[in-house]
Amino acid sequence: MTQHSILLAAVAAVVLTASPALAQQADAARLNEHVRVLASDEFEGRGVATPGEQLTVDYLVGQFQALGLEPGGPDGSWVQTAQLGRTRQAGSATITVSSGGASRALARGPDLLVSSDRPVDRITVTDAAVVFAGYGVSAPERGWDDFKGMDLRGKILLVIVNDPDFGAPEGHPVAGRFDGNAMTFYGRWTYKFQEAARRGAAGVLVIHDTAGAGYPWSVLEGSSTAPKFDIVRADPEAERVPAQGWIQGPVAEQLFRDAGLDYAALRDAARTPEFTPVALTGVTMSIDFGQTADRIESRNVLARIPGATHPDETVLYGAHWDAYGRATPVGDDDIYNGAVDNATGLAGLIELARLFKAGAAPERSVVFAAWTAEEAGLLGAEYYAANPVWPLETTVANINIDSFLPGEVSPQIVVMGAGKSETDVWLERRATEQGRTLIPDPAPQAGGFYRSDHFPLAKMGVPALFGAAGFTGHNAASRDYVANRYHKPSDEWTPEWVMDGAAVDVDLLYLVGRDLADSRAWPEWNAGAEFEAARAASAAARTAE
Ligand SMILES: [Zn+2]
Repeated sequence: MTQHSILLAAVAAVVLTASPALAQQADAARLNEHVRVLASDEFEGRGVATPGEQLTVDYLVGQFQALGLEPGGPDGSWVQTAQLGRTRQAGSATITVSSGGASRALARGPDLLVSSDRPVDRITVTDAAVVFAGYGVSAPERGWDDFKGMDLRGKILLVIVNDPDFGAPEGHPVAGRFDGNAMTFYGRWTYKFQEAARRGAAGVLVIHDTAGAGYPWSVLEGSSTAPKFDIVRADPEAERVPAQGWIQGPVAEQLFRDAGLDYAALRDAARTPEFTPVALTGVTMSIDFGQTADRIESRNVLARIPGATHPDETVLYGAHWDAYGRATPVGDDDIYNGAVDNATGLAGLIELARLFKAGAAPERSVVFAAWTAEEAGLLGAEYYAANPVWPLETTVANINIDSFLPGEVSPQIVVMGAGKSETDVWLERRATEQGRTLIPDPAPQAGGFYRSDHFPLAKMGVPALFGAAGFTGHNAASRDYVANRYHKPSDEWTPEWVMDGAAVDVDLLYLVGRDLADSRAWPEWNAGAEFEAARAASAAARTAE
């Protein structure tokens, strides 16, 4: 069954209740104004733990307060404070490859990107053996183990980006083993770094290719000098490798040649479950760099409209407030303004709050969350998922907003993770009324469903709805954005921006959230979705009364 036919089957199975018409419509000019302010240079790219954070938090709280919402954080506060570990590059890095009695330097930036989430001020890895570990995946439930018990302690692992079946030709035995070209969690760099740490490796470098990563090297390189954040870990030595990062494809290929190996052939071998790690005999790598490591506090902003009849049940809207702050300059611009990503989402949150306040009080509560540190690994949402202010078992759904494209209305709405839950059905009904259609993620190989803030909550069982109008990959605006602006200083607001399309998207997300808030229904994960069991565990907490 294709993702789309799952959608259609689900539509037939659920009967929806009528819902009020729009008391007001989202206002494109208001959306535009919020983005103008939040993405201005004054906010310095909304970096976590920078002056931009304070400006952003103040702006959001001011808007929610003016609209008459209540604080939604702990103890009547507007914010939930999360303690995060922060590491920042200090000085240059020395990276040396030795083989056959000769050694050469690799440059951090153009050749390789490396950092550490360990809370230490210097990382030194000396003459480590280099091992190719295939896709770096251990997935017993899929009958896959790239490691085969090999001792990888103290070694630097090279691993292929994405899943073992990504890009496999049709009919290849591996095809479909990891959900086809849709990226699973095993394809994500976050997973590969963690798995390497569990194996005691000294380092892990993901071999970059643009198709497999979903973005070009320039996207990684540009944001690489921004501070890195992590939740505060009880045992960082066990959970984090000393050195983690990415290596350019051609640079990695040279390492294989140095060891007399053919990367193309090994890459093919890595597509089989029989693969065992291959040492790059005679090649060693040394990595040395300084960093500053400290702890900071950052904040999720939370605002709430209490439900009239079921205040203990929550429809949760979320959007991350952070961008990359100030990082590697491109030209003379070092401010990563994050206009599309994700000032537009914040503008949407504020407009949604306004629409809810313009109508009757919802039956269930509605919470608006602006998450911190999404770009650093979904950390604000992860913190909330571990420390929920409003119970997750009675959170009806999490409607995530991560980027509206400026421009006119898109006839198509991309659904990330289409077919995973019944929230699709609620979206489809309202989209159809608008004369629009839903399509599955056109680039599932990029793992979009695992790359935004609904994911940590989904892992805890909360049904997710993540739609992105216009990101179809076919229109000029989305192609231009992904190629030229995404995660770059050029993701900026300009006076030419038109938010007419985003306004219709906000109307749509409002209607869906309003339908859910005024309903007694609990949308479920569909059979086979990876979060079904987590949700089922708390079924007793949910009633239809
Ligand atoms: Zn984003």
